[in-house]
Amino acid sequence: MSTVPELFASKVFDDRVMKERLPSEVYKSLHETIAEGKELNLSVANAVAKAMCAWATENGATHFTHWFQPLTGITAEKHDSFISPTPEGRVIMEFSGKELIKGEPDASSFPSGGLRATFEARGYTAWDPTSYAFIKDNTLCIPTAFCSYGGEALDKKTPLLRSMEALNRQALRILKLFGNESVKRVTTSVGPEQEYFLIDRAVYEKRRDLVYTGRTLFGAKPPKGQELDDHYFGSIKPRVQAYMCELNEELWKLGILAKTEHNEVAPAQHELAPIYSTTNVATDHNQLTMEIMRRVAAKHGLVCLLHEKPFAGVNGSGKHNNWSIATDKGENLLSPGKTPFENAQFLTFLVATIKAVDEYQGLLRLSVATAGNDHRLGANEAPPAVISVFLGDELNAVLEAIESDTPYDGVERRRMRLGVDSLPSFTRDTTDRNRTSPFAFTGNKFEFRMVGSSNSIACANIMLNSAVADVLKGFADELEGAEDFDAALHELIRRTIKEHKRVIFNGNGYDDKWIAEAESRGLLNLKTTPEAMQLLIDPENVRMLTEEGVFSETEIRSRYEIQLENYVKTVRIEANTMLNMAKKEILPAVSAYAAHLAGALERKKTAVPGLTSEYDSATVEKLTALADEIYKAAEALEEKVASLDGIADITEEAYFIKDEIIPGMAALRAPADRAEMETAKEYWPFPTYGEILFSVK
Ligand code: ADP
Ligand code: MG
Repeated sequence: MSTVPELFASKVFDDRVMKERLPSEVYKSLHETIAEGKELNLSVANAVAKAMCAWATENGATHFTHWFQPLTGITAEKHDSFISPTPEGRVIMEFSGKELIKGEPDASSFPSGGLRATFEARGYTAWDPTSYAFIKDNTLCIPTAFCSYGGEALDKKTPLLRSMEALNRQALRILKLFGNESVKRVTTSVGPEQEYFLIDRAVYEKRRDLVYTGRTLFGAKPPKGQELDDHYFGSIKPRVQAYMCELNEELWKLGILAKTEHNEVAPAQHELAPIYSTTNVATDHNQLTMEIMRRVAAKHGLVCLLHEKPFAGVNGSGKHNNWSIATDKGENLLSPGKTPFENAQFLTFLVATIKAVDEYQGLLRLSVATAGNDHRLGANEAPPAVISVFLGDELNAVLEAIESDTPYDGVERRRMRLGVDSLPSFTRDTTDRNRTSPFAFTGNKFEFRMVGSSNSIACANIMLNSAVADVLKGFADELEGAEDFDAALHELIRRTIKEHKRVIFNGNGYDDKWIAEAESRGLLNLKTTPEAMQLLIDPENVRMLTEEGVFSETEIRSRYEIQLENYVKTVRIEANTMLNMAKKEILPAVSAYAAHLAGALERKKTAVPGLTSEYDSATVEKLTALADEIYKAAEALEEKVASLDGIADITEEAYFIKDEIIPGMAALRAPADRAEMETAKEYWPFPTYGEILFSVK
């Protein structure tokens, strides 16, 4: 048994391994590529490939794969073995620089939203040296970007890297204005807190809905849910503990900084948080984490559910995206500094983020828009679909004082002058406890809480980085030309607060009054994916994303289509699964139980002439009526699903899903859930909510 430090990153071709195994000039030049984005030449790639192959085979790998993140939302891999034939009819293990740098997976089966005409079905993958290669099972996985031959991005990594680059470019300009000349690079960091459900595999396999869609489509409320709050931070059950233990080990081997684990609010719900890292790496690691979570669960006879809303009426799962901006010198630009000078810089990045969130609310909202997350947002357990920023009372008071040029009422009563006065030191606790805000400042970072548990964090961070980059660009343009920097900065910050304070909200985000107020403040309330997605093709948003070099117009259009296609496909599968369960399982069960009671009543009457049984006769009547209701709702839904085929336009199709199919599904579910309550346990065809939620002892 190795110690954790020995175990950690033992399956990663990381800096330590590179230093050990690469010739020093190769190591140096690769390092420059990683740290400064310098171009890589083939001889370096060849040397790296050779060392990688030797290391990987020594560690049991026989295959390699370019590991990438197509727009399906999951990761993709195609394995090739290292074997290469020799003239003697034997093989050697070989891997070239070319194979490392570029791969050509058959791209035709990945979604491209019309980007890749079928006659030109090829795309290629390109090595991303900023994320380390690692071994999974017997395969060396090389993180890569995925593009079409026309150069358009077909994945989530490429635009993420572009958005990080855009932010770097603009943040460096701002830092220069503050006299910060030695900073070479600015990066964003993310720590994603991952929520999930863990249920027993045997129970899972009895439910077609869980198997096909990852969530339950039927199910009456259990007698005990989460109302006692006895699960949150409660002691962890031994079986779950064993799972978490193995999960941590597997993640550590892959160099993933798994740090915190605890129970969540709902029964069977848990959370895992890593220590934050560079956004690109954090994204790769989160994708891997989700995959490893599922695999380890299978080994323990469990199933890990990553769906945003596996159970109606029970808290869903999200992923808090803790985000900050830092320099290569380790300075966190969202951390209030000690000196007035540092504070002015901090306030610049702070108000830039506030403005970015206000101006690009739509992009942030749509970056987390999926059929699954639509169930969660606004359901009084997760932030509403309205985006707002939480700052906490202290920081809010500072901004108000700056805006109105009035004395700041904090520790000392005095006017705040930027670059002259110090900010009071905030106590972290006062800023961290509002759990209802979608975008909360938590002392030295922002926490974006709308991200769904199964979402790739790439999407949210692409939009966040691009939006902040765009605002910083405007700031830099304005300040670079200023005669008096201090005065211009003060004016810029004041104006930014004034123009964007509508997005700041420090109250309870779950309160209906807030939703009404938000609307009167002109904030967007995009409740569903089809509505949110319209904002992706909004001209101002397209301008921003293209100007920042994050997406081309064609890429935006293709992503619009793919995201709506995913939405349509997901709900369509759900509707079909419901029909299947209703017709093949629920109706036969309800009908059989009603028939059983009717037969029993007949037999009782024969035995005791004149006997009446209120339970038997009333239940037969109720169940028969419910069965009819279920049947009619199923027929109606089936017809609606069939009419989807007649709609050619993807936007129209998505709206039809939202306006017709989803309400049709709700209409089918309601009588079925009522029937569940009236039907004897041994007749009910699949495990109930109570049996699933408390399946792990
Ligand atoms: P909690 O939200 O449970 O109070 P923390 O706020 O300490 O816990 O951490 C939540 C997540 O935020 C962790 O993944 C942590 O590593 C991450 N985090 C902490 N500091 C930063 C930062 N400067 N930038 C990005 N993420 C951070
Ligand atoms: Mg947190």
